[in-house]
Amino acid sequence: MQLKKLEAYGFKSFADKIAIDFDQGITAIVGPNGSGKSNITDAIRWVLGEQNVRNLRGTKAEDIIFTGSASRKALGVAEVSLFFDNDGTLPVDFREVAVTRRLYRSGESEFYINRSRCRLKDIYNLFADTGIGHDGMSIIGQNRIDDILNSKPEERRAFFEETAGITKYRNRKRESVRKLSETEANLVRVQDIIHEIE
Ligand code: ATP
Repeated sequence: MQLKKLEAYGFKSFADKIAIDFDQGITAIVGPNGSGKSNITDAIRWVLGEQNVRNLRGTKAEDIIFTGSASRKALGVAEVSLFFDNDGTLPVDFREVAVTRRLYRSGESEFYINRSRCRLKDIYNLFADTGIGHDGMSIIGQNRIDDILNSKPEERRAFFEETAGITKYRNRKRESVRKLSETEANLVRVQDIIHEIE
């Protein structure tokens, strides 16, 4: 699966619609400080379902909408789309998959998969276990590298486990152990009731 294209309008510094094509191999984005390079990765993270605005370097949701400049008025909506060439990794019957997220200044949010309205949960499900979800390690921000270098050994271990895809099994195990102990507690309760009846 390949990320083919990003389109953004009204997202952070992108007052005009931008389209970035990603070819095979490495794409490098260069530009002066403050020109919007990190805003591109923020846009990708956002459309994949990032809900924590601090991870997008903002303090409130509407910080991601173009706030205006000396020559441009603020915009009322931000919209970002990602286009994937789907080799079967994404569990939908489309060769090209477009995922879109839109936020209005009123606070209303919209999500689309191939132009059909969907829920945020559908976006999470679409990317689950592909390694490119909003909580995956496919996007490593500048601060994240500092975090990893400065982290304690056990925190670094958590990072490697997440990258190796072990975390989800650890979470499932924890959930299963919880259900098992609930079931054991229910069994004890049933035994008590049986004793009372006998
Ligand atoms: P550096 O090389 O220093 O890391 P960069 O190229 O990664 O910089 P970004 O951090 O992506 O730059 O962009 C920061 C710019 O985006 C700032 O000029 C900031 O004013 C602008 N910006 C961020 N949010 C908005 C917004 N909502 N509306 C307008 N401009 C915004």
